[in-house]
Amino acid sequence: EQTDTTITDLDLTQYGLKKIASGKVRELYEIDSDTLLFVATDRISAYDVILANGIPGKGALLTQLSAHWFSLIQTHLPTLRTHLLPTPTALPPSLPRNLSTRSMLVQRLKIIPLESIVRGYITGSAWAEYKTHGTVHGVPVPSGLQESQKFDTPVWTPSTKAPAGEHDENISPTQAAALVGKELAGRIEDASLKVYQMAHDYAAARGIIIADTKFEFGLDEATNELVLVDEVLTPDSSRFWPADRYEIGRGQQSYDKQPLRDWLTSSGLKGKEGVRMPEEVVRDTEQRYREAYERLTGEKHR
Ligand code: ATP
Ligand code: MG
Repeated sequence: EQTDTTITDLDLTQYGLKKIASGKVRELYEIDSDTLLFVATDRISAYDVILANGIPGKGALLTQLSAHWFSLIQTHLPTLRTHLLPTPTALPPSLPRNLSTRSMLVQRLKIIPLESIVRGYITGSAWAEYKTHGTVHGVPVPSGLQESQKFDTPVWTPSTKAPAGEHDENISPTQAAALVGKELAGRIEDASLKVYQMAHDYAAARGIIIADTKFEFGLDEATNELVLVDEVLTPDSSRFWPADRYEIGRGQQSYDKQPLRDWLTSSGLKGKEGVRMPEEVVRDTEQRYREAYERLTGEKHR
């Protein structure tokens, strides 16, 4: 048993599985032509670079938090399909047992090349753009907003899905429509706003503000149905703020990679390859992910 091992490298080809893709955090393997094994490692990235060491327990935590949201989506938004297979299919018995907590069997889909971001609050790149241009993803928004202020209604602010090593680019809904088609862009916007609103209200009741988040969608080409894919509403894909410390007019302390980003910036290692995090940064980051998980699920993460 290696349940406590931090996994940054993972090779399941030795078990006869075909590797489909390798992202910054996940490894995708083929189970059959319609099914993928979606495995989250403990890797962490910041400023688009993967760190040399990982965060213990992170892969399992992200997988289980996503599963928690998929189940809430099924309850509250039953018409929206997700890639998580409805009946938990058993992993192939030959695989190491400790993989199950960090894995999902999902429907293999054609991924729509958009990052479907929803912002409920103005922060990050949207705040930077607003300060200089008065717009958010090229769209004019009311003047007089302060940093971290809540938008009157959440806004759909897509970005491109850049190839590995390149930066995603913020685009307007009109540009998104030009990329994927108006009708599909409209469906993605609608679904994203609905999931965000449900999750925002759920999290707010548990002391967490979901400031913004990123979704990805696939298309079931047989039925032309939109399917929510990837991880959902995790600290890797979202900004989670502790509600009790929320104050407009400044940046917020979020439950994410802030300690890591701060350390990279202050040590001058931002953007460098192969950087090893010191133990303290690992522990701080692990603690933040756990706290978000425990608040949102009401359960301890082990
Ligand atoms: P990328 O690898 O695209 O730069 P990333 O680093 O965030 O992004 P990971 O989160 O490590 O990637 O890996 C997840 C990858 O799996 C993403 O490329 C995502 O688009 C893809 N994906 C998610 N769900 C599915 C699915 N159901 N079918 C096929 N691909 C999927
Ligand atoms: Mg990802």
